[in-house]
Amino acid sequence: MALYADLHRHLGGALHPRIIYKFLQRFDHSVLSYFPDYEGFYNWFTRPCRTLEEFVKIHTLVEELQSVDHLPYFCLRLCRGAYTFENLQYMEIRYNPYFRTDHNLPVAQRIGQMDSIVEVIGANVRPADYPITVKQILCLDRRLPKHINEEILRVAKKNIGPVVGIDLAGPEIDPGKWDIWVKLMGKARASGLKTTAHLGETGIENVHVQYFPVLDRIGHGIHIPLMRQEMLKELAKRQITLEVCPTSYRQTGVLKDLSQLKVVFSRCREAGVAIAVCTDNPGRNPSPCTLPGEYERLIDHDVIDFSELKEIQNEAFRSAFGFVGTPRL
Ligand SMILES: [Zn+2]
Repeated sequence: MALYADLHRHLGGALHPRIIYKFLQRFDHSVLSYFPDYEGFYNWFTRPCRTLEEFVKIHTLVEELQSVDHLPYFCLRLCRGAYTFENLQYMEIRYNPYFRTDHNLPVAQRIGQMDSIVEVIGANVRPADYPITVKQILCLDRRLPKHINEEILRVAKKNIGPVVGIDLAGPEIDPGKWDIWVKLMGKARASGLKTTAHLGETGIENVHVQYFPVLDRIGHGIHIPLMRQEMLKELAKRQITLEVCPTSYRQTGVLKDLSQLKVVFSRCREAGVAIAVCTDNPGRNPSPCTLPGEYERLIDHDVIDFSELKEIQNEAFRSAFGFVGTPRL
């Protein structure tokens, strides 16, 4: 049996909608007044959105549910599903620790809670019955003030081991503020963390060459091969891997059809830029959305050939931030 590695999966979007719905029922959550039955919730939760901003709004609901007390519930289900239904050997799970702190507390106390969020997740992503290796990537967010992002970086540095990297997430706003993020990524790298950033997902405005020297991977980046092909040379030289999440682009309204990814894959192949196929927010996609399913869809849409499959699977292990051992491909 082949085993897989997923490098781009958000904790807030990783869980099957049935798990979220059962959780809401358990606590008689007020959101259930809109969704008296599961089907209505499922359709709302997995519907394609017109924009990334619209998509992120639903994500916020789940982040608030994943408080420190409830993280063990979600982590166990995340690991057992990934191991049992997707054959994942290795997974990097990314999340913003600040968004999982208690929203009723003042900012300083919320910042203080972030360490325990990381600890609780670290302790609960190693269920004995599901031997999957899970590493954490902490997300900075374009919507948060600089000092909170700096605190997230501090927490990441303090927890190197379970935490392997930093990501830049949130809607692609304020493209002119790239210098703030480049500095933070530079600091992260200097302290031994790996780096990735959501760039070039919905357009090209956020992609600045100044990012390249401080990044190990790029989350999505599909608009680089689509619109600024000449930049690929630099990515290849710096061995920056693109994390491509096929179904996600249909859900966020970025692509109409997966066959549009043909150009992305062929230009990257030509330029020598590595691609790791990932899932992003599989729980938000119509079921079943699994990593093996994403590989299959790429073949089905003629984006890749079956003969390339092993190589692409292997790329995910090779580009991983914290994988040690031998991939069981
Ligand atoms: Zn993402």
